[in-house]
Amino acid sequence: MNKVILIRFNEIHLKGGNKKYFTKLLINNIKDALSGVNFKLENIQNRLVLRDYEDEQEIINRLKCVFGVHSISVAVELDNNPEIIKDYVKTIKIASTFKCDVNRADKSFPIKSNDFAAQLGEIVLDNNSHAKVDIHKPQITINVDIRESGKTYIFSDLIYAYSGLPLGENRDGLLLLSGGIDSPVAGFCMAKRGLRQDILHFDSFPYTSKLAKEKVMTLAKLIKPFIGAKYIYVCSMTKLQEEFHVNCKTEYAINLLRRAMIRVANAVCKKYKYKTIVTGESLGQVASQTIESLTSTNAVASFPVMRPLISFNKDEIIALAKEINTYETSILPYEDCCTVFLPKNPVIKPKIEEAEREENKIDYTALLNYVIENIEVIKL
Ligand code: ATP
Ligand code: MG
Repeated sequence: MNKVILIRFNEIHLKGGNKKYFTKLLINNIKDALSGVNFKLENIQNRLVLRDYEDEQEIINRLKCVFGVHSISVAVELDNNPEIIKDYVKTIKIASTFKCDVNRADKSFPIKSNDFAAQLGEIVLDNNSHAKVDIHKPQITINVDIRESGKTYIFSDLIYAYSGLPLGENRDGLLLLSGGIDSPVAGFCMAKRGLRQDILHFDSFPYTSKLAKEKVMTLAKLIKPFIGAKYIYVCSMTKLQEEFHVNCKTEYAINLLRRAMIRVANAVCKKYKYKTIVTGESLGQVASQTIESLTSTNAVASFPVMRPLISFNKDEIIALAKEINTYETSILPYEDCCTVFLPKNPVIKPKIEEAEREENKIDYTALLNYVIENIEVIKL
């Protein structure tokens, strides 16, 4: 009798001819997530079986961050033999309501699912005077999964992961990560659809502090297991912001800054071959996230901008931030570059021509090149 961890996946089943490719991706991602841990992984039909491991909880915690994984169960592995299974079920201790669920994927198994479930239920009742059958709302379900591989898995709990698609091989996305609540969640959401991402952060040192940068580094490390990031690019916007502040209309400061962020992101994408930019914008959340503001920033984007939170309410974003453990760090009170030189009345419906007119008041290209050339690349 072996104790194993069963790993189930769901969306991959819909991939038809590409199922093999996605399963391989998932297996590679699981191996990456478990680096430094001893284990063996076997691919049986529609399940992965992880065996020969030690630290069960650590493995489960790491598996929960792997997209494509639907659920995880710690199971006992037996041969597909009714007597062996019955002997094991005799040893199960239960003092509550229960039911037995049998899934007979191995059609050569001699007893039909419902009949076998009834037989196993009888065995549990015979061996546990306080156990009681409840088909509808049992406190414990004894799942008996009889697979085509010749092995049966018996388990009670399913630990749910986040499903979705496995991260792709290439880091195709560039996540614009601020120190706020939204952008880590945006990275998580896109990773759930298989987008592996690196990170771009803007600071305004010395107006923003070293602590603000440390906070972003902490956030980056917290989301790294989800988004598969390897690098964080840190770009100082100070010079550009100072020029905007002195020369341009104050109410356009944020719009100009956001357009500059996208232009820097364009340059990083082009140089390092990212295919898309990801932000944590949500429609109407602030002045810089109205349709007109988003139109103005989109106008300078050379790559598609993904905004997975566009339809999320703040409380929905906060709930997800708590779920992925970034919330407590995000609410630490350090300033962001968007709060430096913050105008009292930012324009709510910026016009592209007006933004361009403001940009023409300064030596824009030279300044942009300066901030791009001074980007710091940090390995995570
Ligand atoms: P967040 O909680 O993510 O900071 P927010 O509500 O504060 O969002 P904005 O400051 O307008 O919104 O930023 C919108 C998006 O722009 C962010 O979600 C992020 O993707 C990007 N962004 C903003 N500031 C920065 C920054 N300093 N560095 C990198 N990206 C940023
Ligand atoms: Mg922000």
